[in-house]
Amino acid sequence: MKLALNLALAVAALISTSFVAADQTSTHHAGHKRAAPGAHWTYGQDNAGPQHWGALDPLYGTCGTGKEQSPIDVAIGAPFVALQKKPFSALNYSPLRNVLCGYDSHTVKCEWNSTVTAPNKNSIVIKDKTYNLLQFHFHSPSEHRVNNHFADAELHLVHQAEDKSLAVVGVLLEVQANSNPFFEWVVKLDKKVDQLEHGHGFLVKDPVSGEPVPGEEQVKYKIDKVDFSPLLKATGKFTPRWEYEGSLTTPPCTEGVAWNVVRTSVGLGLKQFDALVDLESYNSRFIQDRPTKEGN
Ligand SMILES: [Zn+2]
Repeated sequence: MKLALNLALAVAALISTSFVAADQTSTHHAGHKRAAPGAHWTYGQDNAGPQHWGALDPLYGTCGTGKEQSPIDVAIGAPFVALQKKPFSALNYSPLRNVLCGYDSHTVKCEWNSTVTAPNKNSIVIKDKTYNLLQFHFHSPSEHRVNNHFADAELHLVHQAEDKSLAVVGVLLEVQANSNPFFEWVVKLDKKVDQLEHGHGFLVKDPVSGEPVPGEEQVKYKIDKVDFSPLLKATGKFTPRWEYEGSLTTPPCTEGVAWNVVRTSVGLGLKQFDALVDLESYNSRFIQDRPTKEGN
């Protein structure tokens, strides 16, 4: 009898716990921004993988039908790629404050309040147009290739102009034994995610399956100050670089992106690379064919 009572109490406790959990989850859902619209997509071999992006959602059509898609091999002599040896006509980078980094179910991405004026307003100028740095994120392995060689990872610095057009600076990253102080936060973010044991760093779990919900609330690591000086020094202020007109490398694969792939690669410590891959796994779109002028 006592056993039965204990069992009944245990069941009641379980039910009330799960009610609390479900309630908390719905509060989370109501309390923060939902993921961007558009169908779920992946980097896998499944039906939501890169080969199928164009068919997943009408919003993603350009991924399948676009004529200027990215990434590409920048160094095979394609006529639409130019090796630019002159520096940007203006490059205004200063240290960023209060940068929040996390894994968003596709990439490890860092954002900050960029609506404020300097110092959190970094920019580059291309053809008299000013593009402000909006966020930066990573792909592993690299998306762009140089003479058929892909790097271990690629950093994308995404800039946006007032008319919403985009310019991305791509920095190729190669693994080295020593850590690069610029990327040390990646290891700290990975540790924080591991400690919370919420696979890949999501704080919201599906109340039924218990699985983390991608696109929902994430574990974030705050960096007080991101100083780009070592990166600018190592890459010659992103010069020389390959310039071409391409696209976003993720759905909706929007074209008209001004790409700037930096020729000098930068070192990423082995432990830092391991942490990056632990967080984001494989997240690289395959090389895109470009129709030639003859219509092939
Ligand atoms: Zn990217």
